[in-house]
Amino acid sequence: MTKFSDLALHSELLRAIEDQGYSSPTPIQEQVIPAMLDGRDVVGIAQTGTGKTAAFVLPLLHKHLNSPGGAGHKKCRALILAPTRELAAQIAESINAYGTHVHHSVTVIVGGVRPGAQVKALSAGVEIVVATPGRLEDLMSSGKFRLDRTQTVVLDEADQMLDLGFMPAIRRILGKLPPKHQTLLLSATMPKQIRSLASDFLNNPLEISVAPQSRPIERITQSVYFAEKPEKRNLLAKLLAGQDVKRAIVFTRTKHGANKVVQNLEKVGIKAAAIHGNKSQSQRVRTLDAFKNSQLNVLVATDIAARGIDIDDISHVINFEIPNIAETYVHRIGRTARAGKGGIAISLCDGSERKFLRGIEKLIGKSIPRENAPKDLLESISAIIDAPIVRNLAPENEPPKKKKKDKKKKKRPKNKHGVGKKYQGFGEGNNTKTASPKKPRPDRKHRPRRGKSTD
Ligand code: AMP
Repeated sequence: MTKFSDLALHSELLRAIEDQGYSSPTPIQEQVIPAMLDGRDVVGIAQTGTGKTAAFVLPLLHKHLNSPGGAGHKKCRALILAPTRELAAQIAESINAYGTHVHHSVTVIVGGVRPGAQVKALSAGVEIVVATPGRLEDLMSSGKFRLDRTQTVVLDEADQMLDLGFMPAIRRILGKLPPKHQTLLLSATMPKQIRSLASDFLNNPLEISVAPQSRPIERITQSVYFAEKPEKRNLLAKLLAGQDVKRAIVFTRTKHGANKVVQNLEKVGIKAAAIHGNKSQSQRVRTLDAFKNSQLNVLVATDIAARGIDIDDISHVINFEIPNIAETYVHRIGRTARAGKGGIAISLCDGSERKFLRGIEKLIGKSIPRENAPKDLLESISAIIDAPIVRNLAPENEPPKKKKKDKKKKKRPKNKHGVGKKYQGFGEGNNTKTASPKKPRPDRKHRPRRGKSTD
């Protein structure tokens, strides 16, 4: 078996790997690290959870240690492109963890925050830039950032960038690199647009595939419950209140759907928070931190916001709605069973979603075991205050007591669905009228979206 010490990495990087407690390289690390150190272009077919981040961060840091030197004003030596802000932040965290014993510099360039601090960080030049394509292009077109000294570029989760409509931006960005550079392209799946990107921009790449394409990790126990929309809420609450749920991500297809799930869970005493594209960057960071620190045990997320989130010990992934794209199911359930552990993935499927379920089963090549939902699901469930997921929360993390203002809300006239007046009109996809006008986010400017937004 290959050891990290066989990979010819700098001793201070090996020390950081030891700090992380890794005993041996994962298959993708075993193959990508030597190829990158050799200067080869690489196409890696790998899902999150395979150790792909260390596979490119370690050789990058090693190369910079071996040939020290600044990048030059407004320039970087290595560029990592990621589809979401969360993934970009997480990659930067990994760089800081693996580079903890060596001098290095990293800057995250993402939308959703004012660009001032990013422009300032770039002005002196930086070793590694981790960026989402929209904001990066903005800074490049205003002359605040240039790629003419960039030696290495990594495209992480390329298929997700394709789904988000970033492909034209990526092609423009890659077109601005100097003629001599190294490229690593990582993708969980290999649709033909990614293939043609690789053949247009990569030079005789080594192709590495570490997991059977689109197959969920074997360690995940999957099941599906058939329940119609109104039943799903109670079923979700009951599942989350189960004895063995320690930390769960609940997936919804839409941002509004995520908010509604949080409201419903909180009604029965289960603390939850949503993360999606309508939340500010600071809200997203706060929520993720609370989830990582176990102050929050249930995270409700849309696909894009959750993409690439690397949090250990997620015991359950629950698909409140079945994704309409089969590959998305594989990505979702991959949030659990990380770092060699097992996990449980439960899907709630209504009549309109059966066709999506069939597509998923075709993709993964097996049928997902059916479970029977409890019969009394439509009966309203009162607060689940005895559930471990509620009890486990420290007192200071319990939902804040309702203020007087909330009491008044109860008196509002209700419509036939029992919804208070203030919330009437907040039906699926109908919350835009009351939303305060928002300035367009700079990183969205270049994001033509395909289909319905789920960020
Ligand atoms: P990634 O696929 O980069 O998102 O990594 C998934 C998880 O695997 C992260 O929690 C890493 O800390 C962990 N990891 C990365 N490399 C190794 C390794 N060689 N041994 C054990 N865990 C690892």
